[in-house]
Amino acid sequence: MAQQEDHFKKVISHAKEYGYIFGSSEIYDGLSAVYDYGQNGAELKKNIRDYWWKSMVQMHENIVGLDASIFMHPTTWKASGHVEAFNDPLIDNKDSKKRYRADVLIEDYAEKLNQKAAKEIAKAKKRFGEAFNEEEFVTTNPRVLRYREEQETVLKRMARSLEAEDLADVKALIEELGIADPDTGSKNWTDVRQFNLMFGTKLGASAETATDLYLRPETAQGIFVNFLNVQKTGRMKIPFGIAQTGKAFRNEIVARQFIFRMREFEQMEMQFFVRPGEELKWYEHWKETRLKWHLSLGLGEENYRFHDHEKLAHYANAAADIEFNFPFGFKELEGIHSRTDFDLKAHEEHSGKKLQFFDHELNESYVPYVVETSIGLDRMFLAVFSQSLEEEELENGSTRTVLKLPAILAPVKAAILPLIKKDGLPEVAHKIIDDLKWDFNVVYDEKDAVGRRYRRQDAAGTPFCITVDHDTLEDERVTIRDRDTMEQKRVKISELTTILHQKIDFKHWMN
Ligand code: ATP
Repeated sequence: MAQQEDHFKKVISHAKEYGYIFGSSEIYDGLSAVYDYGQNGAELKKNIRDYWWKSMVQMHENIVGLDASIFMHPTTWKASGHVEAFNDPLIDNKDSKKRYRADVLIEDYAEKLNQKAAKEIAKAKKRFGEAFNEEEFVTTNPRVLRYREEQETVLKRMARSLEAEDLADVKALIEELGIADPDTGSKNWTDVRQFNLMFGTKLGASAETATDLYLRPETAQGIFVNFLNVQKTGRMKIPFGIAQTGKAFRNEIVARQFIFRMREFEQMEMQFFVRPGEELKWYEHWKETRLKWHLSLGLGEENYRFHDHEKLAHYANAAADIEFNFPFGFKELEGIHSRTDFDLKAHEEHSGKKLQFFDHELNESYVPYVVETSIGLDRMFLAVFSQSLEEEELENGSTRTVLKLPAILAPVKAAILPLIKKDGLPEVAHKIIDDLKWDFNVVYDEKDAVGRRYRRQDAAGTPFCITVDHDTLEDERVTIRDRDTMEQKRVKISELTTILHQKIDFKHWMN
């Protein structure tokens, strides 16, 4: 655990030191849970967004994009259920005056039980070595069974009470489990209350005539209200999808853990419209397709797992999260939800307009069912960044800090380094840049010894360094160094574009 915390601290300071993430308005001491992306962060974020967009929109004939506004007619949020039900259960500690999400306190308790079971399994694995049969062990070992059973009971009871809006029972559960304030250990809790997460604002010049608006808490509703516009003008046939990326805002009760939970964040969502009755088939399809997308980045299969929801949101008939092994444990990275016809029907009712599709094959009109994939861009950023940051022991006993970002996502693809600042080497390096910059984001670096420059680029996440030396003047070749293997190869300048394309090609990564 301490090791994880330590890694998380390194992630935060490294993100700042290398121009990835700064606290918002830092000169005024920052704003809680709001962050700015720096020169490298903006590139990495854009590359993740592009990777998502290409795989969802460009690679699917039946998925198109949309860019809806953040402001929407206020009735949208009545129809969607957000005014009524977009609440989190909050609880305050009377001694520390700290505020928590009651469900998160309980989930963290359950996760500890899970970790205890995992520890027992790891211990047994060590003890039995080759002969260890994990499946038999987890189904027979009394301790593992007890931990898992308790975990399930706790989560089920919480789901039941939240579903029934029985907040008194949520508090009772916290007390029965002896859950204490994680910061101070105090168990002196207030009652649990509901708290609406939408930010309100006003549109209009004078106070009397201004309309109350909300900043959108999800991008999905912009897609639903445009469903017919896109379907008609794009001549889309069911099944088809609409994808969108953009900012969303939630007044989170507890916004900690760096960019994992922010009050202003970006979502990448796709709503897939299907025939009623076919939604669960598509739900399975999208679960699998989205996991494949994650795995394509090579961050390690063991770092992902599905979590099927016990408590379904008011609009869903099936829901699962793809969880990622963040520096603070497995947490939700993406949600895949079968949203039924809830949203379109609700917008029909509130607007009085039909939102239906005429299916020529079935010769009937219906309100389509929807399967949604929804991922936080900032969370994806954190997943990629934290998993890529390594302190590596080298053969000579020294260590190097290396940010092994997937090359396709790296902000800068190559650094061009003249061995020394004279003898015409900088001029050749600049010529190479002039050639490569049409296709790739590349930088020039001539300061310090070349070894130090390599280390600097390793830490910044640049996958390739291209060094120009005196031989280059004779043979038109340069040294290309791979960030991860540190291997160096002599290649022709004229081949650089092809070589980089091979390493950074979308096709190569997605296939
Ligand atoms: P959580 O349970 O963590 O609050 P959620 O279930 O409310 O998340 P969804 O409403 O399903 O999240 O939103 C879809 C995705 O948007 C999430 O999987 C997550 O990646 C991202 N997301 C949601 N809230 C935030 C936030 N406050 N900061 C950053 N990303 C967020």
